[in-house]
Formats: sequence, C-alpha cells, structure tokens
Amino acid sequence: MIRIAAEEAWAPKEVLERYRRLLAEKSVAWDPGFHSLWGFFLGPKPRASALARRIQDLDDERLRDMDASGIAMQIVFLSAPGVQVFDAPTATSLARECNDQLADAVRRHPSRYAALAAVAPHDAASAGKELERAVRKLGMKGAVINSHTQGEYLDEPKYAPILEAAEALDVPIYLHPNTPPPGMIAPFLPRGLDGAIYGFAVETGLHLLRLVVAGVFDRHPKLRIVVGHLGEGLPFWLFRLDYMHRSMVISERYPGALPLQRQPSDYLKENVWVTTSGMQWAPAIRFAQQVLGIERVLYAMDYPYQFVPEEVKVTDELAISEEERALLYQGNAERLFRLK
Ligand code: CA
Repeated sequence: MIRIAAEEAWAPKEVLERYRRLLAEKSVAWDPGFHSLWGFFLGPKPRASALARRIQDLDDERLRDMDASGIAMQIVFLSAPGVQVFDAPTATSLARECNDQLADAVRRHPSRYAALAAVAPHDAASAGKELERAVRKLGMKGAVINSHTQGEYLDEPKYAPILEAAEALDVPIYLHPNTPPPGMIAPFLPRGLDGAIYGFAVETGLHLLRLVVAGVFDRHPKLRIVVGHLGEGLPFWLFRLDYMHRSMVISERYPGALPLQRQPSDYLKENVWVTTSGMQWAPAIRFAQQVLGIERVLYAMDYPYQFVPEEVKVTDELAISEEERALLYQGNAERLFRLK
C-alpha cells in the first residue's frame, strides 16, 4: 500500500505575481475574499512566506516534504482561486500555460505526481477544449474548478460545455473551495470566518448542492465531482436534505427547484467522491465512509496549506481493516483518477 494525497496545491510564480498585481490594482470591495486570503499569503508573515515558497516548488522541497510525511504521490493542481479571478481571455491563456508547466513536472516525476487541469470556466467552450487537450495530450486526470467564478455557479446553463467535456472524457472535476463571493462574504469577515475555518465549506457545499437541486446530475448522469474536507459538511445533512427537498418541491415555492429523478442523497452518494483534506479526525472520516460508502472517501493532505507530517497517523491508526485503509489511501484514488 502507498499513500496518495488527492488535494495538493501548486501555483507558479507568474500566477502569484498576477495575484499581487490584482491586490494592488483593484479595490477591496471588488473581491474581499481574495484580498483576505491572498493579501495574507502574499504578505510578510513567516507562515505566509513559507507557504508562498513551498507552493511554487514541484521538485526538491516538495518531494522532500512528501518523503518526510510518507506521501508517495500527490494529485496536484493549481491552487485556489486559480485563474478564475482574471478576465476570461487572460484566464484562458493562463490556464493553458499552467497546464503545460504542471504536465512537465509530472513528466519529470511520473511516479510522484498526477495532475488535474486548470480551466477558465468563464469561457466555457474554451474550458471544455482545454480540458480535452489536458487529458488527451498532457495526460491529466481531470479538472479543478475553484468553486464560484466571480459569483457564478456551474449549474448555470452556460457552463454546460465544461460538464459535457468532463462527462465525455470520463474524468472527474474537483470542486475545490474558493472564498465566498462579495454577495455572500459580509457576515463572515468581521470574525475571520471567511476562509478555511468555515467560509470555504459553506460556499463550496452550497455550490455542490446547487448542482444537485438544479438537476445537473440528471442531465449529466456520468458526471463525477470530487470535494474536499469530507464533503464540506454535506454528509451530515443527507437525511435533512432528502426530507426538506421533498417538502420544498411539493410546496412549489421555487421555480428553480424542480423535482429530481432521485433523492439529493442519491446523487451525493453516486456522483460525488470526498477527500479527507484538512479533516484528519477519525470520527468524521468514519462517518463519511459509513454514509457515503467506503469506496467514496479518499485521503488528502492539502499540502502546503495544511502540512503537518504526523497527521497521517490518524489515517494509519483508523479502526478499519487493512483492505479498507488501502482503499482510502490508494485504491479509491487509483480508480477515480484512473491512475493505472
Ligand atoms: Ca486545498
């Protein structure tokens, strides 16, 4: 058995430089979440500069850190918010450059990395084509989308070309968190709840639920979505989602919430996989395995954001069979991302 970590972040110098320019050029009101997150990580604090250094590296330091924490392989992709904060033409060309660079690193270290492609959702037709290029020509294993794109969600019909491409290529989309958009973030900010502590989960969980209730999985039954943080809280809500969705549909209160072919929990169990990123907590991992299925939960570390080498102990010591542990660390990732 080897340990594969399935939600690991990278960002090249060019992207970080562009983030710096965005922070300098645009007013905070434009995207307070982006300012909160990258204003910190591109700032002077030691934790921030260590992260900014680590996140750019795809060779010596990262491989050393992986060895120190017993990680054989990373599923690595462009860090949030990726290219999604830029205008569509910039985002589209930058995604392509990032994918070429990341594919080069996979070629240098083929046994240590597999990669997901960055795409620019705001030009959905080009994003679908870039995903196809990344999978067919660069050997990438799927796409990452950092939740909302400037306040818009993938259940809107204009994003269908991306979902169609993922379905046709039979690759998953990792729906990674983003900071809440301007229309959502106001009550989070004063108490520092906009980021990984809670805001990410609220925003990304909302995004995934929108896909479910909008009937995206009825229209794209083969679509596979991966979310981190043990499903952004949603596994705990399965019973209530089914119960309340039934009464919501019966009430006919919302023209945008129509009947589905199945219950919300069915899609969350059959179209969705979750990773343990940032959630190294045995009871929560066991609960997710229990309600979603043992084959639905994959290990992730969230390097370099949450680089705590000794955390793998939680998974090493989880009270499950060795066969189940091998699925959690290796087998589920190999099957989901078709690593072999
Ligand atoms: Ca992450």
